[in-house]
Amino acid sequence: MTFTTEDLQRLFAAIAEDIAAERDQLCELDGAIGDGDHGLAMDAGCQAAAKAVGELDAEIAPTAAFNVAAKAFLNAVGASSGPLYATAFMRAGAAAKDKQTLSDDDFLRVFAAMAQGIQERGKAEPGEKTMVDAWKPAADAALDAWQSGKPLPQCFEAAERAARAGCEATSNMTAAKGRASRLGDRVIGHIDPGAASAVIIIAAMAKFAQR
Ligand code: ADP
Ligand code: MG
Ligand code: MG
Repeated sequence: MTFTTEDLQRLFAAIAEDIAAERDQLCELDGAIGDGDHGLAMDAGCQAAAKAVGELDAEIAPTAAFNVAAKAFLNAVGASSGPLYATAFMRAGAAAKDKQTLSDDDFLRVFAAMAQGIQERGKAEPGEKTMVDAWKPAADAALDAWQSGKPLPQCFEAAERAARAGCEATSNMTAAKGRASRLGDRVIGHIDPGAASAVIIIAAMAKFAQR
């Protein structure tokens, strides 16, 4: 399977739609352990990215599409998630460099680069109750599955499962990064909003990889 910029336009639109549907729920999660804006931030960022990528000429290379998404997301979002996802999309662009279309292998590398970018930008380790608790195990699971010869759809099924498990696990964690880190034990029993939105994005990518 190969992925074109036109496919990426569909992917960004799907992500924006799925995030919009969960906007209020994501704000509610952030209201419990943060400042309640996570759904608004992700909705604004994803809508802006989808719009900017959607307006591109389909002949433009995937790397440029990811860079446009990064800029649009960053400009639209004033919360911590802004620079984190902008970095993810920049790294996706770097992983897609010099390709006119993306192979399955390229798309997997794009996904892994997004996770790594988020981790490097925020300097969070797994176990610190952030979106890294969804992204890192998802990327690891996808790469493991790929290395053992699984086809792309199965790699992304494994990634989505790992992201969901990682997100659930944040409930029992205290936070070492972000606003929630100021609340100590009071955040226990609440899942991390950034991990929850990560699951939505990873699930949208998994669905995209099934086509
Ligand atoms: P803000 O806290 O600025 O309002 P958001 O509400 O958009 O930002 O995002 C909060 C989410 O950002 C958290 O739930 C967490 O997942 C994520 N986050 C915060 N700091 C970091 C970090 N250093 N590394 C990774 N993710 C982080
Ligand atoms: Mg917030
Ligand atoms: Mg905020």
